[in-house]
Amino acid sequence: MIDFLTILATIVFVIYAFVGGACFGSFLNVIVWRLPRKKPILLARSHCPKCEKDIAASDNIPIIGWLRLAGRCRNCRESISVKYPLIETVVAVLFAALFLVIVVMHGVTLPQGWLGKHHANWLSEFPRCPLFAFSLHQMTLGYLLLAIALIDEDRMKSPWRIVLFGLLLHFCFDCWKPIVRYIDSPLAQITDFHVPELTFYDACKYSLLGGVVGVIFGGVGKLCKVPHVADNTFEQLVMLGVFMGPIVTVLVSIVSASSLVMQTFGNRILKKKQRVGTGIPLQIFCAWLLLLFTWRWWPVVDLSSFPF
Ligand SMILES: [Zn+2]
Repeated sequence: MIDFLTILATIVFVIYAFVGGACFGSFLNVIVWRLPRKKPILLARSHCPKCEKDIAASDNIPIIGWLRLAGRCRNCRESISVKYPLIETVVAVLFAALFLVIVVMHGVTLPQGWLGKHHANWLSEFPRCPLFAFSLHQMTLGYLLLAIALIDEDRMKSPWRIVLFGLLLHFCFDCWKPIVRYIDSPLAQITDFHVPELTFYDACKYSLLGGVVGVIFGGVGKLCKVPHVADNTFEQLVMLGVFMGPIVTVLVSIVSASSLVMQTFGNRILKKKQRVGTGIPLQIFCAWLLLLFTWRWWPVVDLSSFPF
């Protein structure tokens, strides 16, 4: 039964997620530019890259600020890249979509094991609902994967600090809501999975295994010298492995490797001098997104009889 209050709360919270995402997206622009150039992130005012004049707070509002100035600096009228509001919009839509699908729609795209347990109205169990913790966990992962992907698109080396920060946040989530580690685990893909069966040891094991799979896949990419691989693929897969476990890491690697092959062949056929397409980290980000929103319909892999 969906009542008026639930509809209202859904709209309000999705708008919150969108606005919050836009602000985080604005910060992402700062991270992507400053981190690889070893510049301080905090306590730094944003300024025009051309005339170096500080941007007023009212012009610095995510998305709206750029639209209001019609993409030009107020001081020197030099054009400001459309990529800034675009990244803000992408993060805003990402956060809103994750909240909508995972919390409001009870993780309708997640593996079956998690369905059936949350039939109640989402508002009634908010914010204690484990799926809320999971949505925040996935927003964190998506944000950091995108950060590495954008640094890679700039052809810069992503610092390990991003991965270490991600691992620290994953550990905090783990302590705050231990349920997060169960959702990510391969065991959660089995329909009759029961949460208490999985111990802390199991969770660490799968996280570690995911990390190892990430290291192997990232290492293979490095050794094979796949076209336009910056080193960033390696960092991304390690983080994905720890957050999501081994099976998701393998699936995402397969999807992004396939899209890379298609891109390479596409470029051969087109015979364009100007290479089209993106680097692998952006494809890994897209593959993770694709998997998260279609996970339920993927083949189930049973690791419950895994020997150690
Ligand atoms: Zn300027």
